[in-house]
Amino acid sequence: MTFITRFAPSPTGPLHLGHAYSALLAYDISQKNKGNFHLRIEDLDQSRVRSEWEEKIYEDLSWLGIKWNKIILRQSERLDFYFSKMLNKAKNFGLFRCKCSRGDISSITSAPHGPDGLVYPGTCRNEKIYFSKEQHQNLDLLQSNIRMHPNLKKKSFNFKENIFQKGQSVFTLSDFKKSIGDVVLWRRGYAAYHLASVIDDAYQGVTDVIRGEDLFEATKIHVVIQNILDLPTPKYHHHRLINDEAGNRLAKRNDAQSISLYRKKGYSPDDIRELLGLF
Ligand code: GLU
Repeated sequence: MTFITRFAPSPTGPLHLGHAYSALLAYDISQKNKGNFHLRIEDLDQSRVRSEWEEKIYEDLSWLGIKWNKIILRQSERLDFYFSKMLNKAKNFGLFRCKCSRGDISSITSAPHGPDGLVYPGTCRNEKIYFSKEQHQNLDLLQSNIRMHPNLKKKSFNFKENIFQKGQSVFTLSDFKKSIGDVVLWRRGYAAYHLASVIDDAYQGVTDVIRGEDLFEATKIHVVIQNILDLPTPKYHHHRLINDEAGNRLAKRNDAQSISLYRKKGYSPDDIRELLGLF
């Protein structure tokens, strides 16, 4: 089987050292395995996306020496596809329309933050969405928040993790419901990251997902969605995160370690590799 991986940035800010690490690591592993490396632009939230950032992504990645497959997937062009994939499995997903604001949720629950925010207290669970052909054209539904409360016969799930907590990772549906809760799949007009990412990993034939260890818990969400959509579960490699000098996680808001700044300072792509320990 051909090894296929991807880098999936959101064009909402400059690429920084953390992105460079993730992209270079994935690229190197794909080269080592004589595989394919895809680029996917995760531009779902149009209020935060800017075309200049997208241009910069191409420029920075090329400068780093990364070559990607010619076909680039842009998620903003695939919303109908995500919406119908989700609705076709309305029953197994246990889809419901949620009217709660973040404030409503935090006033009810003191649950800790999971990979999809606060564990949802279930307020709108009766607002069930049923599959029908007309729903696909339902503008009101398209503009709603939609959550899932899965109905599945399968009660235990697993995925293979190659770096962080190496080995087989196993979890049950009931733990998932308790610690992660009713995940948002659709956000007033566009697909949530979890839904789009799972659909696209399968669509691009990704065999190995290489990304930061901050997404380790989110992978449980992805595995549940894969099971509902009858999609294969790839292998996962959750790598270490790159921190700034103060030991804090790099944020897109923080331009201090953006690749373009290093370029301006005269660093070469090899200097960046050395900085990241990627030789
Ligand atoms: N767009 C996501 C991010 O930038 C991608 C995460 C992933 O690789 O699945 O965090």
